[in-house]
Amino acid sequence: MCRPATISGDRLEKICKNRTGLLFFGYNKNQRPVPVHRDTTASLSYGMPDILLTARSSVSRSFSMKCSVISGPVFQYHNRPGHIECWDRVNAVLRDLPAGVTVSAPAAADKIDLLRVHQPGYLAWLRRQCTLRSAYDTVDEFGCTGGYFSGNLYIPGFLDANTYLTPRSCEVATFAAGSAIAAAHRALDGESCFALVRPPGHHAASGWAMGFCIVNNAAIAAAEALTSVDRVAIVDWDVHHGNGTQEIFYADNRVLYCSVHAEGIFPHSGNADECGIGSGRGYTVNAPLPLESTLGDYACVFSELILPALERFRPDLVIVSAGQDALLDDPAGGMGLVPGDYGILAGMLIDAGTVPAFVLEGGYGQSHPKAVQAILGAVAGHREQKPVPVPSDATRERIRRLRELHRL
Ligand SMILES: [Zn+2]
Repeated sequence: MCRPATISGDRLEKICKNRTGLLFFGYNKNQRPVPVHRDTTASLSYGMPDILLTARSSVSRSFSMKCSVISGPVFQYHNRPGHIECWDRVNAVLRDLPAGVTVSAPAAADKIDLLRVHQPGYLAWLRRQCTLRSAYDTVDEFGCTGGYFSGNLYIPGFLDANTYLTPRSCEVATFAAGSAIAAAHRALDGESCFALVRPPGHHAASGWAMGFCIVNNAAIAAAEALTSVDRVAIVDWDVHHGNGTQEIFYADNRVLYCSVHAEGIFPHSGNADECGIGSGRGYTVNAPLPLESTLGDYACVFSELILPALERFRPDLVIVSAGQDALLDDPAGGMGLVPGDYGILAGMLIDAGTVPAFVLEGGYGQSHPKAVQAILGAVAGHREQKPVPVPSDATRERIRRLRELHRL
């Protein structure tokens, strides 16, 4: 299905019927996805996919746009020596930002912003955990607070096996959430913005912390945006499924959650048949991929599944849960992407007419800063000129079934 197929101008016109004003998306000779304006379709001579991807031309279109970053030193105050989710991974990105990218300071989210997504009892418990120092003598050798029971053993400094807490973690998390909200506002104003924040958020559910995540930054930004717009899409390309984001919006038809992730790894959710519930049914799109998948597989998921889902949903805002831990050198991943591939995926979203707000999730490997550079480069208009590989047969078959399931 992803192989380019020749298509006549007549057939294209037939498919285009009633879609006046839309921007179409196809492949060039090198199988690189490219935008195609409807009024050029009659002279198309290169291959096109069986299904055309479209995006509203009402969105400001330029294929390159102003881009900025929100980050700051406050994010160093949630830290634990030796843990892979550490300040240095953000600091390394900040040290290597492309010239000309402006960085603005984060602002804290308000309590009401957190309460749109998280249960009041959970937030109160979290605050208590941050300041707890007595019940079980819960300050460990790194000054981390909180704690949990593993069987009969009390583990101080952690909320679960891998989510640590410090006395300032709640404060830092509110700055992460506030930065995600600010990035979303900028995207709504036509400026793509990357919130380089931590701790990450997409495993945090309405009532619990998980997987390095304390509050769900992307979900909080989406919920805040919904106070002024009708529909928000969250595209999650972190190698781990965003179980928290899914849980928060599982019954909500105002948020389309699309995730491409590795199957069979933490958090062991995100099966293809998890599609939403009640009025949210059909608004969760999960594309689990086998380990060691590469750009060919990811690009196919984007072109055949996520972009058509976005086109049908017509979001007012696209938030990217941007976890770059599907990189080949990532210690937490197992996929086969290289830094430039993230620029290609970001470029596909942008060329489909979106102005993404990127919110940092995972990304722990040496090459992570380069992946962020590639994303920012794509926003600035750079498109890597490399052929997109053909997806594996396994991916092709999965996508066929997913398209059937989601009627795309
Ligand atoms: Zn991850």
